[in-house]
Amino acid sequence: MEILYKSTRSNNQPVTASRAILQGLSEDGGLFVPTTIPRFDVSVDQLAHMSYQEVAYEVMKLFLTDFTEEELKHCINSAYDEKFDTKEIAPLVKKDGAYYLELFHGATIAFKDMALSILPHLMTTAARKNNVKNEIVILTATSGDTGKAAMAGFADVPGTKIIVFYPKDGVSPIQEKQMVTQKGDNTYVVAIRGNFDDAQNMVKKIFNDKEMAEELAGAGFQFSSANSINIGRLVPQIAYYVYAYATMCRTGQIEECEKINVVVPTGNFGNILAAYYAKNMGLPIEKLICASNDNKVLYDFFQTGEYNRNRDFILTTSPSMDILISSNLERLIYRLAGGDAMKNKEMMEELVKDGKYEITEEMRQALADFYGNYASEEENRAEIRRVYKDTGYVMDTHTGVASAVYQKYVEQTGDTTKTVIASTASPYKFTRSVMDAVAPEYDALSDFEQVDKLCELSGVAVPRAIEDIRNAKVLHDTVVDADKMPEAVKNILGI
Ligand SMILES: *Cc1c(COP(=O)(O)O)cnc(C)c1O
Repeated sequence: MEILYKSTRSNNQPVTASRAILQGLSEDGGLFVPTTIPRFDVSVDQLAHMSYQEVAYEVMKLFLTDFTEEELKHCINSAYDEKFDTKEIAPLVKKDGAYYLELFHGATIAFKDMALSILPHLMTTAARKNNVKNEIVILTATSGDTGKAAMAGFADVPGTKIIVFYPKDGVSPIQEKQMVTQKGDNTYVVAIRGNFDDAQNMVKKIFNDKEMAEELAGAGFQFSSANSINIGRLVPQIAYYVYAYATMCRTGQIEECEKINVVVPTGNFGNILAAYYAKNMGLPIEKLICASNDNKVLYDFFQTGEYNRNRDFILTTSPSMDILISSNLERLIYRLAGGDAMKNKEMMEELVKDGKYEITEEMRQALADFYGNYASEEENRAEIRRVYKDTGYVMDTHTGVASAVYQKYVEQTGDTTKTVIASTASPYKFTRSVMDAVAPEYDALSDFEQVDKLCELSGVAVPRAIEDIRNAKVLHDTVVDADKMPEAVKNILGI
């Protein structure tokens, strides 16, 4: 069955998967969504005996139907290889009664690698299939992890350039160092004075600027996106939920068809939306538990049915979740509205105009798949410490939020369903905050001294991604105001 992609904001002609990936965002400002969500055509028992790469193929072939088997397998095998430090790609670790799905074994030690190590291959394949002659310019706003993962994926890929914008004061020291030391003749990093929402809004604005698109085309360029607004990011992310379930079956943790819960530390709503798509494909997921930090827009939304971004933007120790406009929620809203693009568009316009919108009672009923809660800075810190003291397992600050929210969920509901917690980053990526939770007495050490101390305490080897930046030279130092982003892009491209 062929799956096409349509916009969440209009009833324009649907496009093929490869077109949707190339474009990133629909011309009307909407996001591309599959016209139907496919169902699995293999059994859980079959999946349970497959490698990560084979599971990824079974999932992706159902969504990216205009890619040939050979193309897709080539993309998958080029992405999930020795860049990952474990053959399993996404290991499942049982600790303290929960299953931590470690999604941080790729090149930049955050879960963004799961999709961004394959996106460049999907993108260049899509360009070939559609006879695109322009050079593709990837514009990316990052809350810290997407930027590095996207650059690692696109560095020196022929026919592409990548420009990353990050909030100057909104990322961890290691995240920043990872980005500003990025090599590759086609990579550009720009810090902005502003927060992630400012960067993401401006990127969306640049995408929708028709004049700029024409100027670009004249110079032989066209834009695309590596943010999770690109459907090419979401589809590969579905695979690891399926793989986690298959792993639990294979190792006898669950019976075939037994339901599980999934907890996802959420920012832009991409990762949890992938889990929701997996559920809609037929994966036996009961609750989708959405964990927020102090920027708890989503928690409030699940409580009240009103999405309201009119509040202070709080900088936390889980910076990749410091977001007030969760772009991918639009894809869920569209589904809740029964695929009514006009209704969705209205709400998204209210969000731009008034900073808020409210869903109907009927739409709220359909939200029953989800449970939302949040963890404060102190609750997060206490949870990382508790799990370390009890089990010796050290988690990062984003996983800490998810773990703390899971504890709240169990306390409130008494639900004993086996639960997978998406573990989205290596603790080394947020060493300072993690050390503050598990061993605050080492506060005076430098960033890299703390890395070595964390290695001693956790017994987990320092990842290559950290060793690589220990003595690396800073190669990018541009800082601009958020409203100057379009000029920065033109400067870089020389137009
Ligand atoms: C990006 C990110 C998140 C949030 O994921 P979304 O898909 O944006 O909801 C959580 N944790 C880490 C470590 C991240 O990098």
